Amino acid sequence: LFIAFEGIDGSGKSSQISFLQEKLTHHLHKVHQTCEPTNGPIGRMIRDIFTGKMDGDHHTIAGLFVADRLHHLLNKNDGILLKMSRGYTVLTDRYVFSSYAYQGAHVDLDWVIAANAESQRILQPDLHIFLDISVDTAMERLKKGREYMELFETRENLEKVHKTYIDILERFKNDQNILIVDGAQPQEVIAEEIWRTVRPMLED
Ligand code: C5P
Repeated sequence: LFIAFEGIDGSGKSSQISFLQEKLTHHLHKVHQTCEPTNGPIGRMIRDIFTGKMDGDHHTIAGLFVADRLHHLLNKNDGILLKMSRGYTVLTDRYVFSSYAYQGAHVDLDWVIAANAESQRILQPDLHIFLDISVDTAMERLKKGREYMELFETRENLEKVHKTYIDILERFKNDQNILIVDGAQPQEVIAEEIWRTVRPMLED
């Protein structure tokens, strides 16, 4: 099983990933947690651009994400395909919809979608979980400040990203399995909603 968590900054993905990991482990499933940008070489380049250590424009970033995602899938150490072939359930903090929403907010969305066609052909998540919060809620949570992206993520950008997310969820809802959860609810309620969807997908 391959599950991608999506949402704007501050949507609570990482907590929900931990909760789901706990439940899965409790039910004796092997879980591999991962994220994008990855911790691999291409993911590191992306982080270096985000933190200003390296120069990079939006097209370059979009291209790097395409490469990072392919590396994420295919690398021989801890690639998603390898982990799945070894029986792991893979939970990723962001996947292709993040590229559509974040990179698509800056460069042509159809180009981003086309550039990601190969990773989509290789493997699509069995489930995308979108934690939906308003930009106001996001800004408030970010102010309390844990995210290093705080400086980078302006309200204006988050609004664009949020809108693009909603557009692409609509666009892909008929050919991909998407769960949209109200991320403003209490954490336990969200976790329960996610578990209700994931549980029947497990092969016991
Ligand atoms: O998942 P997390 O919130 O830690 O993501 C960190 C940042 O990386 C996000 O705030 C976003 O600005 C950026 N990002 C991006 N494009 C992606 C994935 C992440 O711009 N495809």
